[in-house]
Amino acid sequence: MTNLLPEMAEIWQQTLNWQPTVQQQAQFQRLYELILKGNRQLNLTRITDSQEFWEKHLWDSLKGIAPQGKFIPSLQESVSVIDIGTGAGFPGVPVTITAPNCQITLMDSTQKKITFIEKILTELALTNAKTLVGRAEEIGQHPQHRLAYDIALIRAVGAVSVCAEYTLPLLKQGGLAIIYRGNWTEDETTALQNAVKLLGGVIESIEQFTTPLSHSIRHCVYLRKIATTPVQFPRAIGVPSQKPL
Ligand code: SAH
Repeated sequence: MTNLLPEMAEIWQQTLNWQPTVQQQAQFQRLYELILKGNRQLNLTRITDSQEFWEKHLWDSLKGIAPQGKFIPSLQESVSVIDIGTGAGFPGVPVTITAPNCQITLMDSTQKKITFIEKILTELALTNAKTLVGRAEEIGQHPQHRLAYDIALIRAVGAVSVCAEYTLPLLKQGGLAIIYRGNWTEDETTALQNAVKLLGGVIESIEQFTTPLSHSIRHCVYLRKIATTPVQFPRAIGVPSQKPL
């Protein structure tokens, strides 16, 4: 049995005002196959069904960079993007495929996941991404990475204020953090406002949307960096998640 990804051209068009090229569709297909194969050795994802993979990994990854139904215009230029805790490559790898002019850093604390990502980049002939092994708490204090990115992506890594502490220090002034969430409550907005203020950011918008196949509710939180992040952030390894701001 071949595992063929659906094309979903109409849904891409309706939801993101975009369709993959033949080459991008082939890269999505190859990515799916490599993940199914890699799953036999590494615990990469529990999502293996082709429709579910399309929706929860591909569509969801790209929806985050398309607030209000259109890709963020600066992604057509050579902006620098970091995906923190990329795991099996989400949302970073679909973004790498879709935005070939961007320079993308795929970061994770687990070496074996990064080794797998290296293989994906080679097999898909993606030259606009590189990998980085490390913890967000360290990378955010590193002079080469702090204040170095236009956009920071983060999905399924921790509580939202932890995500804010991981992303904002890495951004340039004016940069954008995109935090992918499932459910969202008003209480979370209140807690996040406090954390974001301490970190030199503001909540630019919170978007709620419905996924196109299973109709589940998801959210993306967009934070804008408007001031300097104080040097004490991010705090030492483990502190952001143990004592969220
Ligand atoms: N973003 C992917 C993977 C989520 S699983 C997705 O949405 O499918 C969370 C990943 O974050 C794991 O791969 C884990 O190794 C990584 N991670 C957790 N804490 C981290 C930290 N402090 N710094 C860097 N990576 C981290």
